[in-house]
Amino acid sequence: MSPSRIAWVVAGMIALFVGVPPFSAAQAAALKGIETGDLDRTADPCNDFYAFANGTWRAKNPIPKGEQRWSRRTAGRETNRRQLRELLQELAAKADRPRGGVEQQLGDYFASCMNGPAFKNEARARRAAICLESTEALLGEPLGRAYAERHFPPAAKAKVQEIVRNLLAVLKDDLGELQWMSETAQQQALAKVAAFEVLVGYPDAWTDTSALVIRRDAFWANVEAARRFSVETDRKRMGESTSRAVWQLPPSSPGAYIDIQLNMMGLPAGFLQEPAFDLAASDAVNYGAIGISLAHDLTHAIDALGRDFDSTGQPRNWWTKADFDAFQNVGQCTVDQYDGYEIEPGVHLDGKQVLGEALGDLAGVRLAYRALERSMQSHPVPEIDGFSPEQQFFIAWGQFRGAAESLELQRQMVKSDPHPTAKYRVIGPLSNAPEFQQAFGCKAGAALVRPPEKRCGIW
Ligand SMILES: [Zn+2]
Repeated sequence: MSPSRIAWVVAGMIALFVGVPPFSAAQAAALKGIETGDLDRTADPCNDFYAFANGTWRAKNPIPKGEQRWSRRTAGRETNRRQLRELLQELAAKADRPRGGVEQQLGDYFASCMNGPAFKNEARARRAAICLESTEALLGEPLGRAYAERHFPPAAKAKVQEIVRNLLAVLKDDLGELQWMSETAQQQALAKVAAFEVLVGYPDAWTDTSALVIRRDAFWANVEAARRFSVETDRKRMGESTSRAVWQLPPSSPGAYIDIQLNMMGLPAGFLQEPAFDLAASDAVNYGAIGISLAHDLTHAIDALGRDFDSTGQPRNWWTKADFDAFQNVGQCTVDQYDGYEIEPGVHLDGKQVLGEALGDLAGVRLAYRALERSMQSHPVPEIDGFSPEQQFFIAWGQFRGAAESLELQRQMVKSDPHPTAKYRVIGPLSNAPEFQQAFGCKAGAALVRPPEKRCGIW
């Protein structure tokens, strides 16, 4: 390095320090970090990161009877249902709201269902669950609107859209540097990434439902009115918007979807909740949870799943034979890595079976990390609870993806599930990341440190 170059670097560092003042304790306190109560601090992150990240949560939250798997994500789905029931019960408690408003329609529809003749013999709680499903199916937009007002403000939508933009930008850069993919396939992949659409939270414009008449005392008439209204709305929409603009799940749904053919993803507001996303949490935590998860899904648009459709949705395999062979070649490293993982003595994961999903996780961690770095250039993240931004990112992944899975379920998974078991979805990609080793000061020989010559990569 020439002296003039060193001077430039030093000047650059000074500029960086001037431009980005250290955080005050108050600023850091305002942001939520990782779930410190879930950590098992007796575990060594370099050797048993899975226990370190969520060991205490698993110890305190045994798998409920009748379930095979339990996690903060599954608990989050129950929170979603409870929040929606509470919202509807609250709206239903007040009669005589102005006609045609979203709150009147939701409250009176729910009341007509709860008090109606439809489910005479159902217990109250069971009936509330059914009436919620019915409201969600028939008044999806009004319910999504009322739900988003409480649980997914515009700032949350903007933040998730920003995360998506950063992920797509990083993926685009990465594709340009790919060694194994042919030039032609790279162009196709870039076109798909450029055309990829992500619906976030709720529609940009709500359908005007004020003409829909919902009565407090007429459940079946309400069902019919709502159905007719929905058919008419669909008919008016025909021709004026693409099928990509139509939400396949209501905004209140705790699920998300990826449509490989339409080259898009839908992320309802009900899905963009803890532990996936939290507006109050640091960027490092959000990039480690929803960020990695979304980056994983984005790579499906261009991987062995997405290669069957081009950027316009036409069924056309745009990988060449050389791309396919090269993919197999690069992927062998990951096949070997997962073949080496076992769920009990002698019972191994099947590397070939989980290859596509394991590669998605590997790419997801890498892309989300780079997207976070990009974001931190203008929006730095403070140390929180003694954890650096990088540590927060990796721990967030362990806490988001971590799950208690019964041994029975794990035995089924290694036979037929394309996903690795939860533990290996967490530590598999991290053990390939030098950034992880650096963040936790892990030394060569530790379980989470794959030697450089065995380190796997793909996108
Ligand atoms: Zn996947």
